[in-house]
Amino acid sequence: MLHGLRRVRVNGTIAAVAIADGSIARILPIDDDGEIPLLMLPLFADSHVHLDKGFPTDRWIPRRAAASLLDQFRIEKEQLAPLLDGQLARAEQTLRRMLDCGTGRARVHVDVDPEIGTRHLETMLMLQRDWAKAIDIELVAFPQQGLLRSGSLAVVEDALRLGATLVGAVDPGGVDGDVDACLDAVFRAAEKHGAAIDIHLHDPAELGRRTIGAIADRTEDFGLQGKVTVSHAYCLGEIGVDELRPLAARLATVGIDIVTSVPIDSAMPPAAVLIAEGVQLRLGTDHTGVDAWTPFGEPDLLRIGRRLAEKNRWTDDAGMRATFDHFAARPLVFREGDAADFQLLAASCPEEALARVPERALVVRAGEPVAGFLFHQGLLGEIAEAGPWP
Ligand SMILES: [Zn+2]
Repeated sequence: MLHGLRRVRVNGTIAAVAIADGSIARILPIDDDGEIPLLMLPLFADSHVHLDKGFPTDRWIPRRAAASLLDQFRIEKEQLAPLLDGQLARAEQTLRRMLDCGTGRARVHVDVDPEIGTRHLETMLMLQRDWAKAIDIELVAFPQQGLLRSGSLAVVEDALRLGATLVGAVDPGGVDGDVDACLDAVFRAAEKHGAAIDIHLHDPAELGRRTIGAIADRTEDFGLQGKVTVSHAYCLGEIGVDELRPLAARLATVGIDIVTSVPIDSAMPPAAVLIAEGVQLRLGTDHTGVDAWTPFGEPDLLRIGRRLAEKNRWTDDAGMRATFDHFAARPLVFREGDAADFQLLAASCPEEALARVPERALVVRAGEPVAGFLFHQGLLGEIAEAGPWP
């Protein structure tokens, strides 16, 4: 347990920080003695990640080109089947990397289908329980092979009974072939189990736009405002701005948020328009390392945030600082009484952290160090306030 920090940069000043009962008890400004303090930042929220799909890190699985999205589904299923045994160990390895990147909250999509049943989910429930002190995990019952296409509704409901709290789906039009039937099933399951909803949507321009409209209609009909997310939504970056603006305004009104991994290989939701219309835009890593979808996964949300700022040319201080709104788990300013959830890194301000992406020195959850190089090297004494607070 950490009792305090001798000197850190927080809220734009240098301060000593006292920690008691998992909370920040005092923030006491101190004189600048020339020694360079570490910067205190909030933990990050990864709003879209898969922990049941990572490939082993000790060998290379040859990569195959997929002819279509459905072909990619099939290839992934083939590649993952023999890897089931080590799934928990690999997920823990990934989770440790995420913690070392300052992630303190994660929405985890977990594959379910009639063949694998809820096996992946049961593993993720273990992970959720065993790591609860270090990270908040919420689980999405995700029918990767298509909710209707693979006949997965019953297993999605099993997953909700076991502890998943969100209903997932993928491309109601492009994969399931029936936008209305898929969405009806998703929303009814959510209503029945008191769950929220998070839908993967890769469908292009017009089909995607129509699907989002249908999701908005049902969000209102079912009274699920604020509980529905559309992930990826590439289509928003493919339609004209005249169509996008009213759709974005509707998303804001209905409280549907958009999650993006800030792809550089496809269209992405135009951040500036969504933000201007009041839509919540949140970031997810989606791929944290090498998996069947990409060899280029990235576990660090600070790096994804940097990409968001770079793509949108948010290069001045105000723009860079506002970038944190999309992936920080809480505001950048800390107050006495806040939970002692934070990370420390070598930067003078959040903008510099976004630009330079320094290695995390320390990651702390409820006053307890959980990750970072000072933690791993047993060097907490270098920064910790040892004794009782003066
Ligand atoms: Zn995903």
